[in-house]
Amino acid sequence: MTAQGLEMLDYLREVMIREHLQGRGIRDTAVLAAMREVPREEFVDERVAAKAYGDHPLPIAGGQTISQPYIVAYMTEALELKHNDRVLEIGTGSGYAAAVLSRIVTTVYSVERLDVLAQSARQRFERLGYTNIVIHEGDGTLGWPDHAPYDAIVVTAGAPRVPPPLLEQLATGGRLVIPVGSSCEVQSLIRVRRVAEHDYRREELCGVRFVPLIGAAGW
Ligand code: SAH
Repeated sequence: MTAQGLEMLDYLREVMIREHLQGRGIRDTAVLAAMREVPREEFVDERVAAKAYGDHPLPIAGGQTISQPYIVAYMTEALELKHNDRVLEIGTGSGYAAAVLSRIVTTVYSVERLDVLAQSARQRFERLGYTNIVIHEGDGTLGWPDHAPYDAIVVTAGAPRVPPPLLEQLATGGRLVIPVGSSCEVQSLIRVRRVAEHDYRREELCGVRFVPLIGAAGW
C-alpha cells in the first residue's frame, strides 16, 4: 500500500468512528478506542481493502462475511465489558470482532467451524502482534467448556434458538449477546444476563442479519 493509500484509510477509519459509530449512538470509549486501533483493512481481501471502512458487511472466505462496523461496535458495547472479563466469541470469521474485543479485555477465546478461516485469522493475529486471542476449530454451539465460565459471550452468526451450552458456560453476572431468529436470514439481537445460578433475563436489542450458525445446537 502506498503512503497515500494508508493516509486515505486513516481518514476513512475516522469517518467510520465519527459518522457510523458515534453518529449512531455508540458511546463506550473503550469500544471506540478499540475500533480506532484495529486496522480493519487487514481483515478483508486486499482487493476490497479500500472498502474496509464502508458502512456494510463484506465477503470473506468460505461464503461468510465480516460484519458491518456499526454492528461490531453495537454488539461489543452490549457486552458491557470490563478489562478483566473472560470473553468467548463464536464465529471467528476474519478475526476482526475478536481483534476489537482483544483491545478491551485481557483474553479472548474464539471458536470457528471452518478450518480455513480459523487458520487465516491465526496468521493475521500473529502478523499484527495480537497475542491474547486463542482460536479453537470446532462447533461453537457447544461453547468451549475448557475455559468456562465466561463473563461475556458473543455469537456472530444467527441461531434458531439460544444454545443451552452457552447459557451453562456463562458466569453469574455474565452477558450473552446472540442473533436469534426462526429463519436463516433475519434475526433479533438478544442479550441474556445470568443474574443468578438458575435465573436468566432476556432482552431484545434490535433487528439484524447474520449468516447462519451451523451446528449441534444451531441450524
Ligand atoms: N466475527 C466475524 C464474523 C463472522 S461471520 C468477523 O468479525 O469477521 C460468522 C462466522 O461464524 C463464520 O465464519 C462461520 O463459519 C462461523 N460459524 C457458523 N457456525 C458456527 C459454529 N457452530 N461454530 C463456530 N463458528 C461458526
